[in-house]
Amino acid sequence: MPSEFSGKHVTVAGLGVSGVPAAKVLHGLGAHVTVVNDGADERARTQAAELEALGVTVRLGDGTASDSGSAAGLPEGTELIVTAPGWKPTKPLFTAAEQAGVPVWGDVELAWRLRGHGGRKAAPWLAVTGTNGKTTTVQMLASILDAAGLRTAAVGNIGVSLLDAVTGDTEYDVLAVELSSYQLHWAPSLRAHSAVVLNLAADHLDWHGSMEAYAADKGRVYEGNQVACVYNVADRATEDLVRAADVEEGCRAVGFTLGTPGPSQLGVVEGLLVDRAFVEDRHKNAQELAEVSDVNPPAPHNIANALAAAALARAYGVPAAAVRDGLRAFTPDAHRIAHVADVDGVAYVDDSKATNTHAAEASLAAYEPIVWIAGGLAKGATFDELVAGAAKRLRGAVLIGADRALIREALARHAPEVPVVDLDRTDTGAMPQAVREARRLAEPGDTVLLAPACASMDMFTNYNKRGDAFAEAVRELGA
Ligand code: ADP
Repeated sequence: MPSEFSGKHVTVAGLGVSGVPAAKVLHGLGAHVTVVNDGADERARTQAAELEALGVTVRLGDGTASDSGSAAGLPEGTELIVTAPGWKPTKPLFTAAEQAGVPVWGDVELAWRLRGHGGRKAAPWLAVTGTNGKTTTVQMLASILDAAGLRTAAVGNIGVSLLDAVTGDTEYDVLAVELSSYQLHWAPSLRAHSAVVLNLAADHLDWHGSMEAYAADKGRVYEGNQVACVYNVADRATEDLVRAADVEEGCRAVGFTLGTPGPSQLGVVEGLLVDRAFVEDRHKNAQELAEVSDVNPPAPHNIANALAAAALARAYGVPAAAVRDGLRAFTPDAHRIAHVADVDGVAYVDDSKATNTHAAEASLAAYEPIVWIAGGLAKGATFDELVAGAAKRLRGAVLIGADRALIREALARHAPEVPVVDLDRTDTGAMPQAVREARRLAEPGDTVLLAPACASMDMFTNYNKRGDAFAEAVRELGA
């Protein structure tokens, strides 16, 4: 069937998670596809061979996709670029595209444009972005939609390709879509049914160039929303983004709060999650959705995630009972404030996914008293605010990893009375020792919390491995 891509010269920038499927889909739609990729390692060569066998042109390591200006230029005849989301906008390839008036789309933009393709139902998108909590919220949302009997999936940045979801054989009623700031940057025409920015804290600033640019890219998720722009009442910046957005006539701003909700908000009243936005006469009425204890785990930031998910589901018209059932059915992914075990009356909690200070702040707020295991690669972060906020709750701290001195210094400044064990090692064997030291510091009723506030790559392959090492070490304690 002819498509708007038939005969079009499309350059796909970057092999990999999104590039290979994008190239295949475009080729299948009749486009002349050229893939450019900076590296030419074995994986790239294998992927290239697969695409070339289909008739796609692949240029590996010829400089077209490099960060420096040297050999960069648009491949001959390019009418559209589809880029991997992580590619920095400052690449010469994109400057050349801009000068030539060639549009640049990410994989999300391509997926958005292909909705309804081939006579499929064009399922609306409920979109989730924010600095932290995206994956959890989108999974809660999918669970709620599922409980309402809707055909849905959690897709996008969560690791399930949007392109597959919109071009595959499964039909959906509605999609729960996680979007990163990079993906939003490259998705100019995306128009979600409803969307949320969960929170905004400095992250990925090297990519975006500034906090303003990062916020603006996050804010794109609200553009053209039809029913609700959901914001975090406790995070003013998210509400500002709603105000700045151009939305469909009748679209409402809906807040979520851990406090008592005002009209047009969802919040918490006496242990209940309550909706005062999607009810008749919201000035007088409120609808009970679920109990706080239905949220797993019921830590404050996770209740906020549940409220955000509930708001999007309610915007889509989901009944209250499905919110409760969906939240009850939800189990969080590993390494996100996962309770590992109790040993001698001390709880051991794995929040290895707390790879930045904003995430660690949330989990440190959820327990008391805490023996905190922290450290790793700081990625340019400072720790004063985090430590000052958590100081009162800390029984002690055990520091690991390359940048632990930064946390040690912040503890000395803001929590000088808190005992600190500084493990002067960055090998993987440091984790069992850290856990043993934490046990020594902890008293019954305490929580030993792995919330590193740092990336893991100095000691581990990734945060999963770091969390696994922690859980393993805890099990050894109990053995
Ligand atoms: P993301 O997909 O945005 O990385 P996740 O749901 O995977 O978010 O959670 C990552 C980490 O962020 C969690 O381990 C937790 O420490 C923290 N977190 C989760 N929700 C929130 C929130 N609403 N506010 C702050 N931190 C959060």
